[in-house]
Amino acid sequence: MSVASIDSPPAASPYLHLFRRYLKQQGLPVTQQREVVADVVFSTTEHLSVEEIEARLKERGERIGKATIYRTMEILVRSGLVEDHDFGDGFKRYEHLFGGQPVHDHLVCTHCRKVTEFRSPELLRIQDVVSREHGFAPTRHRLEIHGLCAECQEQGVTVAYNGLTCPAWDVA
Ligand SMILES: [Zn+2]
Ligand SMILES: [Zn+2]
Repeated sequence: MSVASIDSPPAASPYLHLFRRYLKQQGLPVTQQREVVADVVFSTTEHLSVEEIEARLKERGERIGKATIYRTMEILVRSGLVEDHDFGDGFKRYEHLFGGQPVHDHLVCTHCRKVTEFRSPELLRIQDVVSREHGFAPTRHRLEIHGLCAECQEQGVTVAYNGLTCPAWDVA
């Protein structure tokens, strides 16, 4: 019944104004729905799928269709504020670039789907060296290492080489 009520919304992320500015620059409508979707992503350092974003919107009492979420994520990625990842589990996952780990890469466990972030100054050095060799001006790189995490190996899981994904995981 209180669909249009404005009872104290959760404190908006400080990065939301960057998204607003981008939308305006691109001549795209700044809608409340787009803002709420962006706020969900900016409010966590996790790597969320569209399904997870939808669930968090529901927790906030927002009913926003997947099409709007997809579209908003597309714009966010284009804006450079959010990165999308394909960790091989069949969904794209999104994270904003103002999280705890400024420049980081990912270890993706293909069995339990755990994603571990790591930083390597060495990789940044390689990015620079390779770019220089090619007269290239680098802005960012992405690296995902897929395999088995330490816990899964301890539990005796072994790498199956029939494709990158293991069908056992989707029971979770
Ligand atoms: Zn694992
Ligand atoms: Zn990450």
